Amino acid sequence: MSDTKLSTSIDIENVTKTYGSFAALDNVSLNIRSGEFLSLLGSSGSGKTTLLMALAGFVRPDAGSVRFGGREMVFEPPHKRDLGMMFQNYALFPHMNVFQNVAYPLKLRGYSREEIRKRVGEALAMVELDKLVERRIDEMSGGQRQRIALARAIVFEPKILLMDEPLSALDKRLRETMQLEIRRLHERLGMTVVYVTHDQREALTMSDRIAVMSQGRIQQVDTPENLYERPANRFIAEFVGESSFLPVSLREGKAWHRDQPLNAVFSNGKLGNPHLVIRPEKLQFVDEGAQGFNLFRGQVQDVIYQGESQLLQIDLGQGEQVSIRRPSRSSSGGLPSRGDAVVLGLHPQDCLIVGESA
Ligand code: ADP
Ligand code: MG
Repeated sequence: MSDTKLSTSIDIENVTKTYGSFAALDNVSLNIRSGEFLSLLGSSGSGKTTLLMALAGFVRPDAGSVRFGGREMVFEPPHKRDLGMMFQNYALFPHMNVFQNVAYPLKLRGYSREEIRKRVGEALAMVELDKLVERRIDEMSGGQRQRIALARAIVFEPKILLMDEPLSALDKRLRETMQLEIRRLHERLGMTVVYVTHDQREALTMSDRIAVMSQGRIQQVDTPENLYERPANRFIAEFVGESSFLPVSLREGKAWHRDQPLNAVFSNGKLGNPHLVIRPEKLQFVDEGAQGFNLFRGQVQDVIYQGESQLLQIDLGQGEQVSIRRPSRSSSGGLPSRGDAVVLGLHPQDCLIVGESA
């Protein structure tokens, strides 16, 4: 397979799809760069598959535009869109062997025998199955089958690869291995990838950027790091990573927790019903009066051992609680125990104020 990087941009503009009075996609706009690995992340029913199917041509939007490399696609049938696809239940042909399965898209496109042999060999080599070309599908494990499906999706070197939860049927270890394999394959081939998942960790691991969806809308599009470090609102902060939330009030240009002014950063989003987002690993135990931190005083309510780290629940009084995560064997000594009075420190750059929603 040639290493020429063939890819194309995807521009989704004001796409709406309704079923009866229900909007599965509600005015969605998203620009995906040529060669980008973009994930659609959201809980079940948020519209991820509908959006992917609109890209594939299996769902026709009621309104809006989908362009590949600037070319309008809304009225193009799926087979004219030059897409590779891999879905969780995008079944392989059980009566064909590995070679025949991967060769199928090339046959459809009228490639010569020789060309087919060459390309199938290369695609299977990429997923490390080139030794098993004669095997029957029902002799292959779940992970091997997903690799064959991947080889079949990329064998004709599509400029765009669409994947809908392709790994969700696999066990955790295999899933993690395949995540890295798909990432490497993307780096090597350079096609534009749109990857659907409901697993935030998977999205963080694999993507250049992530579009978080809920109720048929895109809530935030950002790099994994920005999404985690600078969630636009409370919904995103809850969905991506763990957080505690403390209600704050806004006055005199500052955010206040009770009667304490915070040294904080503000999200770019709307600030209705403002809260302080606290990621558990950003908190640390400090001494009373420690400088350079926002300080919170409380009492240890629970210590939960989780292997590599421990999660401690701290009661701040007035019905408020925060979680703090610390490495299990910390060089900075032991951790407090249940009932201890503690002071927590939070650096100003980790002290993020967000509103309720977009
Ligand atoms: P996701 O992939 O994020 O789980 P989907 O895109 O499959 O979500 O579905 C979004 C919403 O649209 C869901 O509430 C689903 O029930 C609804 N929906 C999807 N396809 C259809 C359809 N063909 N007819 C009616 N409702 C649909
Ligand atoms: Mg889906």
